[in-house]
Amino acid sequence: MNKMSQRTASVYENVVRQFNKAADLIDFDPEIRKILAKTTNEIIVNFPVKLDDGHIEIFTGYRVQHNSVLGPYKGGLRYHPLVDIDEVRALATWMTWKSAIVNIPFGGAKGGIKVDPSKYSTAEIQRMTRRFTFALGCSIGPEYDIPAPDVNTNPQIMAWILDTYLSTQPPHTRQANVHIVTGKPVESGGSIGRDKATGQGVVFTIEEWAKDRKFDLKSATYFVQGFGNVGSWASILLKPHGARLIAVEDVCGAFHNPDGIDPDELNEYFKQKRTLEGFPGLKRIDHEQFMATKADIFIPAALENQITAETAPLLNVKVIAEGANGPTDPDGDEIIQKKRIDVIPDIICNAGGVIVSYFEWLQNKRSEFWDLEEVDRKLRRIIIGGYERVREAAQKHKTDWRTAAYIVALTRLEKVYKERGIFP
Ligand code: NAD
Repeated sequence: MNKMSQRTASVYENVVRQFNKAADLIDFDPEIRKILAKTTNEIIVNFPVKLDDGHIEIFTGYRVQHNSVLGPYKGGLRYHPLVDIDEVRALATWMTWKSAIVNIPFGGAKGGIKVDPSKYSTAEIQRMTRRFTFALGCSIGPEYDIPAPDVNTNPQIMAWILDTYLSTQPPHTRQANVHIVTGKPVESGGSIGRDKATGQGVVFTIEEWAKDRKFDLKSATYFVQGFGNVGSWASILLKPHGARLIAVEDVCGAFHNPDGIDPDELNEYFKQKRTLEGFPGLKRIDHEQFMATKADIFIPAALENQITAETAPLLNVKVIAEGANGPTDPDGDEIIQKKRIDVIPDIICNAGGVIVSYFEWLQNKRSEFWDLEEVDRKLRRIIIGGYERVREAAQKHKTDWRTAAYIVALTRLEKVYKERGIFP
C-alpha cells in the first residue's frame, strides 16, 4: 500500500512556488501578481444528509473560485477524504493556468466533498450530491461556475447535479441551463468523447513529445498510477501505438507484468470485479518497486505529491506525462530535472478534459451535437496548440517545461488585466 492515504505537505504551497518561479523569470507585473496569488471566492458549506439507516450525517463541501478574468469559473468536483481547503485552492488555481494555456474562455475553480464515497451506498451518494448542489445554490451557474467530474465523481453524479440545479430554477428557464455541468452522460446532454477526453489529451501530448524526441512509440513501455477515468483511458489509447503497459497502481496496491498488460482487458476486468487484484499475469509489488519501474513513459493519474524528494530518485523513465493534477512537488521537480527526465506538465498534459468540457458547454448553448470525429479533431488542434506554446516558451526562456507552461498562462492573464484595468 502506498502513502497516498495521508497528506502532510501543503499542495497550495507547491502552486505558489511554481507560480513565483515563473513570475520572477519574466518580470511579471507585481500588481497583477498580487491578484493571481489569491483566490477570488472560497465557499465552504456544511450540510446534512439522511443516511440509509435513518441517521443524519453532516458533510463539508468546498467550492473555490480562483479567477474569472478569462471566462466563467470552471473545474471539477472531487469526493475524497483528503479534500480540504488547501487542496481545493491548489486545484482551482491550476484550472486558471490550464484554460489560459489552451486559450479557452474559462477561469479556474474546483470543489468537492470531504468523504470516502466507498463507505456509502449509491442512494446516499445521490442524496449527498443533491444536497451539496442545493447548498451551493447560486454560487454555481451555467454562465458563472460550471462543475465537472474529478476523482471519485462521474457522469451519473453530474446528472444528479444537473437535475437538482434545474429543479431549483424557475420552470421557463430550465432548458436554458443544461450547461450548468459538463461531463454529463451523453443522453442527458453530455458530449460524445468527454469520457475519454483527458486520457486522449494525455496521449496526444505524448505523441507530440515522441515526435520532438524522434522516439518510436511502437517499442515503448509505460506504467500508470491510477486506473480510473484518466489512467485507464490513457492506457487504452496508447495501446494502438504498439506501446506496452508493464505496471499499474491504484488505491488497492501496485502490480506488474513485464510481459505486458492488456489495458482493454484490465479495464473490463476492473469494471466487473472493482479491483485489479487477480487479473491474469499481474504480480503484486510494493510502492517503491512500482515507482522504480524501468520504462520509457510514466503516467501519474491519481493524486498530488507522488513525485517527491523521496520518490523522484527512484524514477527510471524518459518522460513523465502528468495525467493527474500536481503529481510532482517542487523538490521532486528539481530531482527529475537533474536526472534529465522530460516532463509534460499537468496544466497542458491533462487539459483535454477541460477542452472537451468547453465543447460540451458550447454544444448545450447552441443546441448542437458534434460527432466524435469533430470532437477529437478539435481537441487535438487545441491541445497541440498549447503544447507548442509551452515548447516555444521553454526554448525562449531556457527553462523547464513546467515553468514554461506557467509563463504561457501568466503572459496571457497579464495581457488581459492590462487591457481591462482594475475596477473602479
Ligand atoms: P478517478 O476517481 O476516476 O480515478 C482515480 C484513480 O486513482 C483510481 O484508480 C484510484 O484507485 C487511484 N488512486 C486513488 N488513491 C490512490 C492511492 N492511494 N494510490 C494509488 N492510486 C490511487 O479520477 P480521475 O478523474 O481519473 O482523476 C485522476 C487525476 O486526474 C486527478 O489528479 C484529477 O484531478 C486529474 N484530472 C482528471 C480529469 C478528468 O477529466 N476526470 C481532468 C484533468 C485532470
